[in-house]
Amino acid sequence: MQGKKIIVIGAGASGLMAAIAAAEHGAEVLVLEHMSSAGRKLLLTGNGRCNYTNTDIGPQHYHSLGEVPADSFMQVVLHAFTYDDCILFFRQLGIEPEIRHYRFDDTGYVYPSAGGSSEVLKALTARAEELGIQFSFESVLRSIVLSENGTRTVGWHRRNGGHTEYCEGCYDAMILATGSNAYPQTGSDSSIYPFLKELGLEKSFTGFYPALCALYSKDPLLSELHGKRLDGCVSVASDDGTIRREAGEIQFNAHSISGIPVMQLSRYVSAALRGSDTADLKIMIPGADPEKPALDHVFPIHRTAGFERAQCCTGGIRTDAVDPHTMRFLFSPGIYLCGELLDIDGDCGGYNLHFAWATGWIAGRNAAL
Ligand SMILES: Cc1cc2nc3c(=O)[nH]c(=O)nc-3n(C[C@H](O)[C@H](O)[C@H](O)COP(=O)(O)OP(=O)(O)OC[C@H]3O[C@@H](n4cnc5c(N)ncnc54)[C@H](O)[C@@H]3O)c2cc1C
Repeated sequence: MQGKKIIVIGAGASGLMAAIAAAEHGAEVLVLEHMSSAGRKLLLTGNGRCNYTNTDIGPQHYHSLGEVPADSFMQVVLHAFTYDDCILFFRQLGIEPEIRHYRFDDTGYVYPSAGGSSEVLKALTARAEELGIQFSFESVLRSIVLSENGTRTVGWHRRNGGHTEYCEGCYDAMILATGSNAYPQTGSDSSIYPFLKELGLEKSFTGFYPALCALYSKDPLLSELHGKRLDGCVSVASDDGTIRREAGEIQFNAHSISGIPVMQLSRYVSAALRGSDTADLKIMIPGADPEKPALDHVFPIHRTAGFERAQCCTGGIRTDAVDPHTMRFLFSPGIYLCGELLDIDGDCGGYNLHFAWATGWIAGRNAAL
């Protein structure tokens, strides 16, 4: 029997994984990418070292912006593609894991033992080539039409040397792997948005907001603290009213506050700023006397860093529109979604890449069946 014809939109982490999984399950795959090469964001991960998963992978490290909690969706996703599956998948591509531990975190951050993100990207593209996956770079999506026989006719413009040509193909399934709006300079730029409308996905889209980023405050105390890096505790109220806390090294600048604990909480600040002008970030720096902290102060935050400095986004396509067992969009046939386009954001520590691999793998496999 002839394999299905599948088009994957986006050659980032989740799109590459989806394409590989689909081809491994017998599909004929084309990956359409509007940049001139694959995996631009992947190359930047972990400062070029690629923190590709974590020993503590579990639903507790994932969050959603919409009212649908991440937990039950993530139980299914992480059961289908576990930490061990991830290690094995990359080991089969020649990437051996190295586990690193950091202060203030009991979990193990997993990196390739040799090389970094460029080796991970090379291994993925080599596997794609081995499987006969086709790539169309510098290709701008123009139309998606549902044909009478249930297939999708997709049209795009491809830059070819000095001119642009129009291309068209008919596909049994389409996998959307276009990422979020974080680091738009890498190609993840929300240009898929008009097609979300066309495909009926717009109603399930919450919008994107910066996460894993620095926070800005006009508090005059910041000019006094400017340049300091201090160990302490940060807390903020989340949208359900619970107080979220993180400990670690906090970095103070003249107008902003950053460091891992601040980045971890930035998603809650982004969510709070949707309905309010400021969000309160409480910072406590312990002193020599346990009764007397060196600093105990609430900084009013008026904005987060912009998308161009955010490591991921909170928000996306709400998970109640997607079947976690297959990653199929529930309200239109033949459409699958994966990666950061979905309304799931992970903590800092390898969780976002694990999510991209896991959802890409589920989407690719099921689109091909
Ligand atoms: C600086 C930085 C460091 C990070 N470090 C880590 C880390 O160490 N560990 C970790 O777990 N996570 C890390 N992340 C987050 C992680 O990189 C992302 O969560 C992950 O890459 C998301 O994968 P994705 O496939 O959903 O999207 P992306 O990797 O963003 O891929 C989306 C692809 O779709 C393409 N595209 C978009 N729109 C269109 C369109 N209309 N037509 C055609 N193509 C399109 C884009 O060009 C891009 O190639 C980091 C992020 C940044 C920015």
